[in-house]
Amino acid sequence: MALSGLEIYKLLPKTNCKECGFPTCLAFAMKLAQKQAELGACPYVSEQAKEALAAAAAPPIRLVVIGEGEHKVEIGNETVLFRHEKTFYHPPGIFLRLRDTDDVVAKAGPALSYSVERVGMTLGLDGIAVENASGSPETFAACVQKVRSFSPKPLILMSTDVAALRAALAVEGGKRPLLYAATPENWEAMAALAKETGLPLAVRDGDLDGLAALTEKSKAAGVEDLVLDVGCRGLLETLHALTHLRRLALKQNFRPLGYPVITFPGEGGVDPLDEMVIAAQHVAKYASLIVLEHFSPALVYPLLTLRLNIYTDPQKPIQVIPGLYEIGSPGDRSPLLVTTNFSLTYFSVAGEVEGSGVPSWLLIADSEGMSVLTAWAAGKFDAEKIAKTVREYDAASRLAHRKLVIPGYVSSLQGELEDELPGWEILVGPREAVDLPNYLRNVWRP
Ligand code: SF4
Repeated sequence: MALSGLEIYKLLPKTNCKECGFPTCLAFAMKLAQKQAELGACPYVSEQAKEALAAAAAPPIRLVVIGEGEHKVEIGNETVLFRHEKTFYHPPGIFLRLRDTDDVVAKAGPALSYSVERVGMTLGLDGIAVENASGSPETFAACVQKVRSFSPKPLILMSTDVAALRAALAVEGGKRPLLYAATPENWEAMAALAKETGLPLAVRDGDLDGLAALTEKSKAAGVEDLVLDVGCRGLLETLHALTHLRRLALKQNFRPLGYPVITFPGEGGVDPLDEMVIAAQHVAKYASLIVLEHFSPALVYPLLTLRLNIYTDPQKPIQVIPGLYEIGSPGDRSPLLVTTNFSLTYFSVAGEVEGSGVPSWLLIADSEGMSVLTAWAAGKFDAEKIAKTVREYDAASRLAHRKLVIPGYVSSLQGELEDELPGWEILVGPREAVDLPNYLRNVWRP
């Protein structure tokens, strides 16, 4: 049973020392009750109080790890219903479903090797869900072994037959796959296997009461790392079920359903485009693992981009480190351009400069992660800031000229900047990054 803020407060030291980052113990207690703070943030909680607070301190949705090392996927441990309340922490793992009757290389190869760069990050699929469609443990194991021979990424092993799962585990390589799935019919054997191997276990039931009963029984059997499958498919059904689950876990602190969720947006012959629409909904609300039936770069790229956007902290724009960057191998007669440290701005500008074939110096000012116009409007990218950045990174020492190209959107800073940087010529570049190649090749002169 969850404790109220006041009940938690009674167990805290009540010294209001502020070390937890909150002004008072009461404020900290209230946040703890809302699952928006971690008990570990207070260094002075007594052991007795820790025990009593265990229920309040435990994450409302358990953190579960699939896979190992650099490829591991961490899911769950979310604390809010809506991203703008705080942030979402663990992006859903996106997997491709492979049946052991499929051509492994033809289906899994392109998906596993697919990767795309965006704002300095490498995006791609997280792993493969291998299904024992053949019904044969040997065929299943051979398929898993083949996938493992060319990818260390996490696997979901899909079979309700414990013998088939054991055969697959023998060749899987010990990389912490997810076992899928325990049902009302087989849960005892599946829970025993999960306990014996220490692996996470998915449980499936089309009814939330049934699902809660399954998690309780699996937990009693010694399995802590559980993943929920609500059984239903389709846009409306899953929206309803997943929202209900998330609300029960966060608002009611209903422990039996406080686990990450797996979804299958393309199951049942869904058209690939519709599958991506459903998957997009699951990224936003509230899947932790999404198993796709189809893969194509054109369909998956928007999904990966959406996931990146939804799971970016809205209060912390993605930033690059301010400094003087070399694009190509610039010399002392190369152009010097300045822009802000919003990642999307940096990578757009850097990409276009690189594409122009004109080696350049790119000076990145600290605009607290804002884009050019936003930063200018907020006073974070003004003449004083740009001049300070030019001096801080000693741009002059790299150049035989004294010319600085500013973004066209802040052309109004030209005169003021020439006052701030005596001896420098301030040039107004294009407004859009896409126009930089033409500017650098045909307009800029040292
Ligand atoms: Fe109170 Fe602990 Fe926070 Fe200090 S660190 S204000 S004792 S809750």
